[in-house]
Amino acid sequence: MYPAEAPASAGYRFEAVNASPYPSVDALVRAADCDAPHGLVVEAARSAIAERRASGEPATIDDLRETVRERVGRRSRPSLQRVLNATGVVLHTNLGRAPLAAAAVERITETARGWSNLELDLEAGRRGSRQAHLEPLLRELTGAAAALCVNNGAAAVLLALAAHAAGREVVVSRGELVEIGDGFRIPEVLEQSGARLREVGTTNRTRLADYERAIGPDTAALLRVHPSNYRVLGFTERVELPALAGLAREHRLALIEDLGSGALASAGPLADEPTVREAVAGGAGLVTFSGDKLLGGPQAGILVGGAEAVEACRRHPLARALRLDKLSVAALEATLVLYREPERALREIPALRAACEPAADVRARAERLAERLGGQVVETVGRIGGGALPLAELPSFGVALDGSADELAAALRRSRPPVVARVVDGACVLDCRTLRDDELELVDLPRGPGGVTA
Ligand SMILES: *Cc1c(COP(=O)(O)O)cnc(C)c1O
Repeated sequence: MYPAEAPASAGYRFEAVNASPYPSVDALVRAADCDAPHGLVVEAARSAIAERRASGEPATIDDLRETVRERVGRRSRPSLQRVLNATGVVLHTNLGRAPLAAAAVERITETARGWSNLELDLEAGRRGSRQAHLEPLLRELTGAAAALCVNNGAAAVLLALAAHAAGREVVVSRGELVEIGDGFRIPEVLEQSGARLREVGTTNRTRLADYERAIGPDTAALLRVHPSNYRVLGFTERVELPALAGLAREHRLALIEDLGSGALASAGPLADEPTVREAVAGGAGLVTFSGDKLLGGPQAGILVGGAEAVEACRRHPLARALRLDKLSVAALEATLVLYREPERALREIPALRAACEPAADVRARAERLAERLGGQVVETVGRIGGGALPLAELPSFGVALDGSADELAAALRRSRPPVVARVVDGACVLDCRTLRDDELELVDLPRGPGGVTA
């Protein structure tokens, strides 16, 4: 602490120590007595002292000890952690969208633990393809001739456009030039793929003749984007898929249907969503969709369609850059297997189950939670989320807590596990559509410093 040449006189030392209105880092580290890597505790002590010094307020060891412990505790816990979703939004993008089915989790664990036949054909003893674990299932479930899986839905759209229309024109209705979420905009993805956008029609109405007039020698593809996260209501017109498919065939163009969300099985609030099978049967040469939004599976992007159309995507250099990792392959295979039995998919895929659960069951859960925490059971409106079915309202129930909504919500986020509630009409509400029965007992209102004071 002292320069080597400093006189080590007792008087000098005494004065120097007492002159500082802050403890030394060493002393604070010892006083905090944390069971954590030394460097982490030193860093926490140093930053706690530095902050106090910057504020100009003096501090003793006792003032700073708890701050250091809290900081060390926070830094020792994983940053990515489980939270309880009390928002009523099933596929909440900020909360990781879809919780996986138990079967998918098991397959992830098993695949992660050891080596696997990810790219080995066990029969032939030759190099195989990771797609071989998914393609037969996707063909079976969608009726398509071929399938390819990539890292997410956006990647699927990018790859489809790059493989089929780079350097040429893609015709898209003005009503479908949308932003899908967090800056993912159809016109920009199109530009990145190397294709050129040819807009047709108007925001609310586009007719077959609009597409027809736009087709020229440079046209490579027609793209239809499913309005999964928005709706144009009122005086609207959109060309049905079979009519567009006829036009594409006549002019030998690729037809790409970006479903995004939608449904694989028709169930509950998803009953009116276009299914992948319908899109394939309707003549879309390539259908793209999202593994978590549409299936309640892992993050993935899926392309299904004609053998040649999919093969062009498979051969494109981007396919390698966008490929799906092995843990997602494992989870996606297990999730797809569940869809072979739609009733089982409804029971075992948490996102489907949460979206389709009868409101009476949600209410019963809210009543049990209110008994534990206090507060009133209230009617709420849940959502599918993730940009899917923006207008679909899921009748739901929650517990409105007594107290300042913002303070309660902040305290719940700090509890362990963190609980993400929602603030409705000035009240902090725990929506029970997205809480599971076995999660109720984990919801707790922290009290005391930093928590909620009654
Ligand atoms: C969500 C969505 C995508 C992107 O899918 P991600 O899996 O989020 O990348 C693409 N198209 C549509 C229509 C979507 O709704």
